[in-house]
Amino acid sequence: MNRTLADARRWAAHGTQVCRAAIDSLDEDAFAQPSLLPGWTRKHLVAHLAANGEAVRNLSTWAATGVPTPMYSSPEQRAADIEAGSHSAGTELAAWFASTAAALMAAWDSLSDAAWQSPVVTAQGRTVPASETPWMRTREVMVHAVDLGTGVTFADLPADFLLALGDDVVAKRSAAPLAGSPDIQVCPTDADGVCWTLPGTEPSTPITVTGPLAACTAYLAGRGDAHLTASRDEHTTPIPSLAAWL
Ligand code: ZN
Repeated sequence: MNRTLADARRWAAHGTQVCRAAIDSLDEDAFAQPSLLPGWTRKHLVAHLAANGEAVRNLSTWAATGVPTPMYSSPEQRAADIEAGSHSAGTELAAWFASTAAALMAAWDSLSDAAWQSPVVTAQGRTVPASETPWMRTREVMVHAVDLGTGVTFADLPADFLLALGDDVVAKRSAAPLAGSPDIQVCPTDADGVCWTLPGTEPSTPITVTGPLAACTAYLAGRGDAHLTASRDEHTTPIPSLAAWL
């Protein structure tokens, strides 16, 4: 699907609300528990989300002023801020997330049409128009809302977002074909005509993975293979594991 700036801004706002609700459900003990991301407590993850709000807002400043304003001053600084956040009180982290999310939305509201088209450079070194940054933020708040491990699942996220996420992940994963694997087709049973292909290096019969759209996108995003089945030459086969993403 072709996502628009309006779509991405709507999803970013929606994902922020989903995170907000998940974060507000945590008491101090629950904040200190592991998230679904290896090695990170929920505090690490909320600190990352709050810092990401600031970082994406830096790109908005860059677009508005033309003055290069990187997302993070350095990868080390980014990691240090998350580590420091993991030692903060949960209430402070919740307030930090809320304030940076609100400031980001306000910054977007003030961008002119010309500024939205201005080039900015992401933390990964990609040059993109500022209009791409709400999608970057959308991915973070939507997918990490699930990673907080409070019970939000991909099935709770909007279907049009899931379709856009699938397209995005497949485009990125396709840049590095799966070594030693045939193509993997990921075909939701509840999304008309959608069938993604992850290219492999083996020219043999593809493996086809099917299940609900939410389960398919969770799988593509490296978040497990629950509710999916895989087949090859009309026989059931193990579901190939995919590397982490985001
Ligand atoms: Zn992230």
